[in-house]
Amino acid sequence: MSLFRFSFLALILSSSLAFSQTVSPRARAIHASAIIVDTHADTPQRFLYENYDIGTTDPKDIGHISLDKARAGNLGAEFFSIWADPETTSGHFAKSTFDMIDAVYEQASRHPKRMMMAFSVDDIERAHQQKKLAALIGIEGGHSIENDIRLLRDYYRLGVRYMTLSWSNTNEWADSSGDIDDPKIEHHNGLTDFGKQVVLEMNRLGMMVDISHVADKTFFDAIATTKAPVIASHSSARALTNHPRNMTDDMLRTVAKNGGVVQANFYDAFIDEDYRKAADAQKKDAEAAVEARIAELKTAGKPVTYLDKDKIEREWAAKIPRPPLKSLIDHIDHIAKVAGVDHIGLGSDFDGVSGATPEGIDSAADLPRITQALLDRGYSAEDIHKIFGGNLLRVFRQVENVSHKMQGENVRTSARH
Ligand SMILES: [Zn+2]
Repeated sequence: MSLFRFSFLALILSSSLAFSQTVSPRARAIHASAIIVDTHADTPQRFLYENYDIGTTDPKDIGHISLDKARAGNLGAEFFSIWADPETTSGHFAKSTFDMIDAVYEQASRHPKRMMMAFSVDDIERAHQQKKLAALIGIEGGHSIENDIRLLRDYYRLGVRYMTLSWSNTNEWADSSGDIDDPKIEHHNGLTDFGKQVVLEMNRLGMMVDISHVADKTFFDAIATTKAPVIASHSSARALTNHPRNMTDDMLRTVAKNGGVVQANFYDAFIDEDYRKAADAQKKDAEAAVEARIAELKTAGKPVTYLDKDKIEREWAAKIPRPPLKSLIDHIDHIAKVAGVDHIGLGSDFDGVSGATPEGIDSAADLPRITQALLDRGYSAEDIHKIFGGNLLRVFRQVENVSHKMQGENVRTSARH
């Protein structure tokens, strides 16, 4: 055992010592018996651009996810987000998508004893039994398919099990909440006919339709089109924090009717109104600082990656005080009350929010604190298990069943011709 590894274990031990003051034996037992599924982490950016190894034991690493941190927080399955930055990967979205998918597989092959690729509910359960982290793949942003339904199918074959119809950018077939008020962007009033075809093809393949990031009208078009329950892989409640990335109560009720699940995002600007306002107030200056850095790199003839932007964004995020964990719990509680406890889960956005998570949540190792906070709010062990993964697994299974049914129907249809 290297000294490095020893000091990391000491760190984990000392932080679990801190838990012992805040996380009760009962909460710990409930947490330990759950299959915990998180539906959104941007760690693949680190795999690809930083050569980050998920097996790291570096105690100074500021990332939210490592195999040690996942183990300490009993994280069972992570949906690794594949995001082609529309700015820095413009003109080669598909290549960036393939490269990032490869980066997730490479991590799993480096650590076969502690991590495995997973493509189904059965795989997640198998990984849980083998005490391995199940690594799943979700695409963030429909622009990755480059308007080609064949690419969508190729992504499914490579293991992609959800796709957000848009990221913060409106693409050629789905409006985004990120630029819906920008008159310079050509919008479609929701989903185009091709966008609706994409939704139905996702249903047929067994890829979850993810409505995080989309404009409100796109959301309602997707709901009217889909034959399977939808997910919001990382969105919170707009009634509490007035951000267009969050969902209105009407949308929450609509997801409940659809049978889907809303996975609460941990990002401070989505869960705390004071933080959101402070972030909004400095937005112009922060963006200018990022643009200045990009211009500097370009002038020097250096490539620009997401990490160059993230470094500046972290500096700006650190200027605003972190909100308490209560802010996140309020969102989970609100969604559970409005949509129902069968329609709420967790979509952390780990490694994608420039470090801006609530107090007490510094990495996946801190997930037991959420269990304690939910217990304190009167949630039962059964409800906590639903929130931590049970609901998502139910929806994923339904999506698989709809796919089997649609493919069976296709076989019958083609047999008649
Ligand atoms: Zn996102």
